Amino acid sequence: MIQGQYDRPTAFVTGAGSGIGEAISMKLAAEGFAVAAIGRRQAEIARTARRVGGVAIPADVTREADVEAAISGCLAAFGRLDLLVNNAGQSGGVFETADEVDIARWDAIFAVNVRGAMLCIKHALPHLQVAEGTIVNVSSVAAIRPAARHIAYGASKAALLNLTKSIAAEVGAWGVRVNAVCPGTVDTPLYREIASRRILEEGGSIEEDQGRRSALTALKRLTTAEEVASAVHFLATAASGTMTGTAVVIDSGRVFAP
Ligand code: NAP
Repeated sequence: MIQGQYDRPTAFVTGAGSGIGEAISMKLAAEGFAVAAIGRRQAEIARTARRVGGVAIPADVTREADVEAAISGCLAAFGRLDLLVNNAGQSGGVFETADEVDIARWDAIFAVNVRGAMLCIKHALPHLQVAEGTIVNVSSVAAIRPAARHIAYGASKAALLNLTKSIAAEVGAWGVRVNAVCPGTVDTPLYREIASRRILEEGGSIEEDQGRRSALTALKRLTTAEEVASAVHFLATAASGTMTGTAVVIDSGRVFAP
């Protein structure tokens, strides 16, 4: 047990070593949470843990034994669990038509984005029940505005939204709330992986791709990881009141031509 941590709310953040998960960890720590930073790459989660004064616990969220051990590690470090942020995710990094779908890649995407989230929920829930805590799932606008040739990612993120609603219905009577955020394009390693595929097909640079993505929004700019983190913090605290089973879209106002 880390001295003086027991009285602070504790967050278990998956995919905390980079991008949005790192920003969420920073925001939560700044707002008084003790943070357990979860991910597969030890160096990345250790860097986040150092930055937030938390602990790094390596785990592959697709493996139940890893998830169980990580939840136990979080409890051993902080003595409580108030917030689960299911942020770990993969896009597959490709565009493929339905008749081209690589089903092994499909399974790998669902394994992280859906099975991984479910495993974390399963093993966190007994502790969240004690704390009357919250769950925030990081879905995507891809869940509600599906894109052609990015099927597995969109379908997995839509499944995560359905999971959000069904778990919320199940655990609401315990005082546990479950919500999701649906970010638009955020400049992270995941975005750059998929943008580089788009650039291979359409040409241009990362900056031009970001310009094209920005042009599709009302605000004419991308969303930042810090803006997503603020929404996660809002959903994690009493400020979000009775909100449960819902999703907050943070996408700079994606617009469509009439
Ligand atoms: P990112 O930097 O690539 O973050 C993904 C994180 O997930 C990494 O830290 C990775 O860490 C972790 N992860 C992947 N597979 C894992 C596994 N099996 N077990 C444990 N951790 C795993 O990209 P990001 O954009 O910040 O993505 C964070 C979340 O935001 C994802 O769920 C993504 O779908 C969602 N999102 C992103 C955007 C965007 O435009 N960037 C938009 C909407 C939603 P390790 O590799 O070390 O495990």
